[in-house]
Amino acid sequence: MTMPPPVRVAVMGSTGSIGVSTLDVLARHPDRYRVFALTAHRNATRLGEQCLTHRPTFAVVDAATDATALQQQLRSAGVATQVLYGSDALTHIAAHAQVDVVMAAIVGAAGLQSTLAAAQAGKRILLANKEALVMSGPLFMQAVREGGATLIPVDSEHNAIFQCLVGDRSAAASQGVKRVLLTASGGPFLRTPSAALHSVTPDQACAHPRWVMGRKISVDSATLMNKGLELIEACLLFGLPAAQVEVVVHPQSIVHSLVEYCDGSMLAQLGNPDMRVPIAHALGWPDRIHSGVESLDIVRAGSLEFEAPDLERFPCLQLARAAAVAGGTAPAVLNAANEVAVGAFLDRRLAFVEIARIIGTVLQQHHAGASGLMPSAVSLEDVLKADQWARRQALVAISLAAGAVA
Ligand code: NAD
Ligand code: MG
Repeated sequence: MTMPPPVRVAVMGSTGSIGVSTLDVLARHPDRYRVFALTAHRNATRLGEQCLTHRPTFAVVDAATDATALQQQLRSAGVATQVLYGSDALTHIAAHAQVDVVMAAIVGAAGLQSTLAAAQAGKRILLANKEALVMSGPLFMQAVREGGATLIPVDSEHNAIFQCLVGDRSAAASQGVKRVLLTASGGPFLRTPSAALHSVTPDQACAHPRWVMGRKISVDSATLMNKGLELIEACLLFGLPAAQVEVVVHPQSIVHSLVEYCDGSMLAQLGNPDMRVPIAHALGWPDRIHSGVESLDIVRAGSLEFEAPDLERFPCLQLARAAAVAGGTAPAVLNAANEVAVGAFLDRRLAFVEIARIIGTVLQQHHAGASGLMPSAVSLEDVLKADQWARRQALVAISLAAGAVA
C-alpha cells in the first residue's frame, strides 16, 4: 500500500507553549506530517533551533534584522529554509497554496489577520488563538464557511466539547444539546481571599497549578478571563447562546468539559492535563494518533470535584458574559482592554484586581456609545477600530488607576 503524501503544517507561534507541544506531536509522526513553516515574534534563537530540527520551507520573524541573522545562520548550517519577516509574511504563510494545516498558536489579537487568512484560504485550522475568534466572532465563522475551511478547536475545553458532539458541531442547539459546561481549574488564586488578591505578583499569577502555559493566558486563567473568552469562543464555535454555556470550577483539570443533551445524558471528555492531547486530536481527526501523553490513572486521580465559580472575587467572567450577550464589537473591546491590562500587570504597572476594573470601565464607555461603534453587522474594519479604540481607552484608564503599582 502506498502512503499518502505528508500533510504540510504551518505552525504559527511555534516558539510558544502550544507551538512547542505541537512540534512534539508532529515529530512523533514524521511519515504523516511535514513542517512547512514555523513562525515566531522575537525569539529568533528558539526559532533557529526549531528550524535546524524540523527544516521547514519557510520561517517567519517580526524584525528584518532578526530575519537576516537567522537566514545567515541557517545557510551556514546547510538548511534551505527561507526566512521572511513582518505581519504580511504571516498572512502569506497562513494562506500559502502548499499549506494543508494551520496551527493558529500566536497569542492575542496579533494572530487575527493570519488566522482569518487561513479561514479565507480554506485551510484546516487548528485553533488555539482564541482571541482571534473572540474579537472577530461571526465574521470569522463566515470566513470559515465561505472559504470552505475546517475549524478544529485546540483549546482543551472546546476540543473536549467537539469530541462530545456529533453531526453539525456548529449548530449544537439543533442537535439536542441542552447546554455545555466549560470546566475551569480556578487558577492559582482559587482559594485566595479577596484582600490578598490586591498584592499578588505576576510570577504568582503565572504559577498555574495544572497547566504550563504562556504568561498572558496564565494571567487570564488567574482572573478567570480565560474562561470568559472561552465562553464567547464556545458560543461562536458551537452556535449556542451564552445562556446555554455554563462554567464550573473543577480543580483537578481531569474533565475537560461536558455536554448535556435534552434527554438528560451528559458526556464528558477526560484525560491528563497536557495540551498534546487536544493537539493530537485536532491534527489526526477523524483518525486518532499518538500524542505522547501517558494514560490517565483514574484510580490515582481519585475524587473529582466541581463547584460554582466565585463571581465576586473573579468579576471578569461576568464581564465576558455581558460582552457575549451584547455581541457586535463588545467582545473585541473586551479582548483588547484585557490584553492591555494584562500587559500592564505583567509589567508591574497595574495591580491584579485592577485588571477587571479597567476592562469594566472600557466596556461601560463602549456600551454608552463613546467609541461610536456598536453596529450589529460588524465588518473587519469595525473590529480593528474597536480593538484600537479599546487599547487607547485602557491605557488612559491604567494611567489614572489608583491601584497602579509603584
Ligand atoms: P506563548 O506566549 O507561549 O506563545 C505565543 C507565540 O506567539 C510565540 O511563538 C510568540 O513568538 C508568538 N507571538 C507573540 N506575539 C506575536 C506577535 N505580535 N506577532 C507574531 N507572533 C507573536 O502563548 P501560548 O500559551 O502558546 O498561547 C498561544 C495561544 O494559544 C493563545 O491564544 C492562548 O490563549 C491559546 N491557548 C494556549 C494554551 C496553553 O496551554 N498554552 C491552552 C489553550 C489555548
Ligand atoms: Mg482552555
